[in-house]
Amino acid sequence: MSPESGSLAVRAVRGSAIRDLLAVTERPGVISLAGGLPAPELLPAERITRAAALALHDPSVLQYGVTAGAAALREVVHARESAKLGRDAGAVLVTHGSQQALSLLAQALLDPGDLVLVEDPGYIGALQAFDTVRARVRGVPMDAGGMRVDELRPILQRERVAIVHTVSNFHNPGGATLTDERRRELAGLAEEFGFWIVEDDPYGELRFAGPAVAPVAAHSDRVIRLSSASKTLAPALRVGWMHGDPAALALVERLKQGADLCGSSLTHAVAAQLLADTEWLDAHVDGIRAVYAERALTLHSALAETFGERLRLSTPDGGMFLWCEFTDGSDTAAALRRAVHAGVAYVPGAAFAVQRNLDGALRVCFTTSSPQELRTAVHRLSSVL
Ligand code: PMP
Repeated sequence: MSPESGSLAVRAVRGSAIRDLLAVTERPGVISLAGGLPAPELLPAERITRAAALALHDPSVLQYGVTAGAAALREVVHARESAKLGRDAGAVLVTHGSQQALSLLAQALLDPGDLVLVEDPGYIGALQAFDTVRARVRGVPMDAGGMRVDELRPILQRERVAIVHTVSNFHNPGGATLTDERRRELAGLAEEFGFWIVEDDPYGELRFAGPAVAPVAAHSDRVIRLSSASKTLAPALRVGWMHGDPAALALVERLKQGADLCGSSLTHAVAAQLLADTEWLDAHVDGIRAVYAERALTLHSALAETFGERLRLSTPDGGMFLWCEFTDGSDTAAALRRAVHAGVAYVPGAAFAVQRNLDGALRVCFTTSSPQELRTAVHRLSSVL
């Protein structure tokens, strides 16, 4: 068994052990920082109701649609993504959430044994997609500036890399955003060595501090960029998208046809309306940013005040998560059961480990608890960690 297939099996076992642990976090009275859901009170139910009612005036929204996604939705996504890139966004394919984009891209671009590089800690959904096609997955460490792109060249000189996957903004779980300099460097490496970059960016719009950084896709045609309506509109729409190289997307489109024929014409029509209603959308997303900013800053300062030098924290400037690393050898998986008894839950860092030892780390989500609950949660954490 190769070391990589070994790591795949280890990841599966570790994943199920952590799922067992997290099952107990559902208990009443437990403040869960373990989830990764948008705040339910900010889901725009009333606006979606109006959009769905209007869409239903056209009976074709109850019919099968084209595999690539409703034309109106692809158009508005193309316009929005082109504006972010400052150039043409290429072909657009609508997927069943960006998770389906990851899964289809893994099938389209990888053969068993192909090498994929991901950030370490890694996004679990991407690890699952790459594991499923039996790719070899290797982690690249992160710091406050995102993936350590300076570590890539020696790997690329030794071996053929098929894909570099990066969560470029407000990483899940790492919290960090890839710096502009590293984005350009990564894009340059993709051109030089001929690998694909999968830029997985569901959180970029949830920035509440600091200036936005241009997507990696602004710098190279070797980037397939993914995003989603899940974090700004609603996960239940199951509307995600990918854009970029037309030939690669044509291959993915054929695979999608085999997977599900097409997405939901109804939710595509709803999403197209909401994304095109820029006055409403801007105000709505501003509202999310304001609420998340307050929660993130509350959680960050409570953790910093409580744990001081013992805990290294990511910067709270967007997204949904803070990443925390104990510097004193605390074991967060071992402490989880006690934490749940004390009334607080989080995800231990080991759940996200690719190769690194992340036993001293944890991911906390700030979106679904009030500032008061977040302060209480940190107080409870301090009794067990
Ligand atoms: N990529 C990342 C980095 C994520 O955190 C998530 C959601 N947890 C997804 C993709 C998938 O989101 P969705 O399928 O809802 O678009």
